[in-house]
Amino acid sequence: GAKTGGKNTWQRYRDEMHDAMLRRLEMRSALNEAVAGGQMRLRFQPIIDLPTGQVAGLEALVRWQHPVRGLLGPNEFIELSEETGSVVEIGGWVLREALRTFAHWRTTEAGSFMRYVSVNVSARQFRTPGFVDEVREVLADTGADPRWLLLEVTESLVLHDADQVWRDLGELRAMGVRIAIDDFGTGYSSLSYLSNMPVDVLKIDKSFIDDILHNPQQMALVETIVSLARTLELAVVAEGIELDGHRTALADMGCSYGQGYLFSKPVTSDEFLEYLHTQGSAVSPL
Ligand code: C2E
Ligand code: MG
Ligand code: MG
Ligand code: MG
Repeated sequence: GAKTGGKNTWQRYRDEMHDAMLRRLEMRSALNEAVAGGQMRLRFQPIIDLPTGQVAGLEALVRWQHPVRGLLGPNEFIELSEETGSVVEIGGWVLREALRTFAHWRTTEAGSFMRYVSVNVSARQFRTPGFVDEVREVLADTGADPRWLLLEVTESLVLHDADQVWRDLGELRAMGVRIAIDDFGTGYSSLSYLSNMPVDVLKIDKSFIDDILHNPQQMALVETIVSLARTLELAVVAEGIELDGHRTALADMGCSYGQGYLFSKPVTSDEFLEYLHTQGSAVSPL
């Protein structure tokens, strides 16, 4: 009857909660050993110069080859790694691996024209004392030019931790490293703040791009961000370009760079090199 059904539902709910808790505990301890265990992977997604259609650079995106669960995306473990602190080690690995790979590609004919590699940095990682020194060290070890490196940070990092964070951002930029605000527009940047921020690039979040072809207000909003960026002399990357209509609309409004499945999903290093080859070498030296 209804009573038994209710009880079963409750029990099922309780079992699910229990399972979820165990899974989290298991993930926490597995995460702590993931870097040392060689389980981290990188995927690479090209970033396209919209006016010319050429590959301007790429974003390195982390994956976790979990021994049991298979290949996991960052949405399944980055938040947890922020909680446990393992994000600092993971992020350090990503930085080194991304720069090592990019420095190598720059020496090959197909990759020599690429201008930058974008690396995501979590707030906790950025705030860990010694982060700037680590960047300096990894650049030296990999022989990478600091100007090749674009660090993607969150809007909230730049907003909430002004003093030390801004000093560190300034120090990185003085080295030649550039800074992007990732997922721009999803936070709460005020105009007055924006004009002083120690950053170089705005990445417009995919959620703003999705609907531009069907929603004129959304289109106008993106146009406003693009022109704002131009006023502030910041470069703009539009994320989540899936349709040719997105690409042309964004190019028409003067957005310099684009990234999305229309060009390529994030791929392995072999696939990325293949992509570069199919892109041809007729590249305008911008
Ligand atoms: P993000 O930095 O904004 O990266 C873009 C995300 O959007 C990537 O998801 C990418 O695969 C996805 N994407 C790109 N173009 C398209 C598109 O056209 N359509 C759709 N549906 N998706 C697209 P991914 O790789 O799952 O990464 C998710 C987020 O995880 C990243 O968002 C970033 O915030 C974080 N993340 C990735 N790698 C790292 C890392 O090494 N360290 C840290 N701290 N966070 C990372
Ligand atoms: Mg990013
Ligand atoms: Mg982003
Ligand atoms: Mg995003």
